[in-house]
Amino acid sequence: MRYDGAVPLANGRGDRLCFGVMSILNEAGFRPPGEAQSLILQIDVGCPWNRCTFCGMYKGMSYRRRPLADIWDLIEQEAKRHSDARRIFLADGDVMSRPFTDLRAILQALLKHFPQLTRVSMYANGASIMAKTEAELAALRLLKLHTLYMGLESGDDEILRQCEKRETSAEMVAACKAAQSAGLRMSVMILLGLGGIARSEQHAVHTAEALNRMQPRLLSALRVIPVAGTKLHDAVRNGMFRSLTEFGVVRELREMIAPLDLVATVFRANHSSNVVPLEARFPRDKDRMVAMLDGVLSSNTLDRETAGTMPFWL
Ligand code: SF4
Repeated sequence: MRYDGAVPLANGRGDRLCFGVMSILNEAGFRPPGEAQSLILQIDVGCPWNRCTFCGMYKGMSYRRRPLADIWDLIEQEAKRHSDARRIFLADGDVMSRPFTDLRAILQALLKHFPQLTRVSMYANGASIMAKTEAELAALRLLKLHTLYMGLESGDDEILRQCEKRETSAEMVAACKAAQSAGLRMSVMILLGLGGIARSEQHAVHTAEALNRMQPRLLSALRVIPVAGTKLHDAVRNGMFRSLTEFGVVRELREMIAPLDLVATVFRANHSSNVVPLEARFPRDKDRMVAMLDGVLSSNTLDRETAGTMPFWL
């Protein structure tokens, strides 16, 4: 997944969504907002799945794994320019899909060339995590692999099927648990409005259930934006998908948050796509958040007829 408010980086350096400090980037790509301070190394190009109906990040791009020899060259070059890098993010879409032996060798090379390295992060789909054994995940953690960014999108299997996500909810719950058992930090993304009007209720209920089983350390909620060129955009245009109104999105978020029973999660819904920006910690801030959302819902300020203003890009 990648709808954590992934930041597209134009011309090698740039930040179209203004998430603050630019990344140090060797090639164009995407990175999560939380990796703004990281050195970005483009290990692969595109996403090996590239089928999710809502995702326009790598559309029209052929997935390509860079040969290891090229990666060694890349690491050597970047180490000369950024030898003091402490955090590295490996792009693009699902670097975790590489075989364990590749990942181990890449992490070993990073540790050799970046003596101050403290953490390495990457996007990881559920299937790619589950393709690794418990011992392999633990070995990668020992080599400073730190945070995996995974898109749950929804805990509702019907929505996941409709949006052509590769994994079921149960598979992603298992992947999250396996990674966290190995000491990795999971940053999980969910997409508000992904079930449209038709499945908003199921989206809220089943996503909360999945998150309670996952217990992710980091959780981001974004509103789905029908991006031109995606199947979701086509479905909206031909009337097959009815987007939530502004009011509906906030109500869905409220219904999703209220049943959450998270013991130690940092939560963010502060991307420009969100109607009500939120930053909070579970369990401490949950009741305050629900009360605040109840206040917004009863304030008569939300658009009940249309989706309201949305950014052009998620
Ligand atoms: S897994 Fe799906 S959401 Fe993630 S980058 Fe690939 S196509 Fe996009």
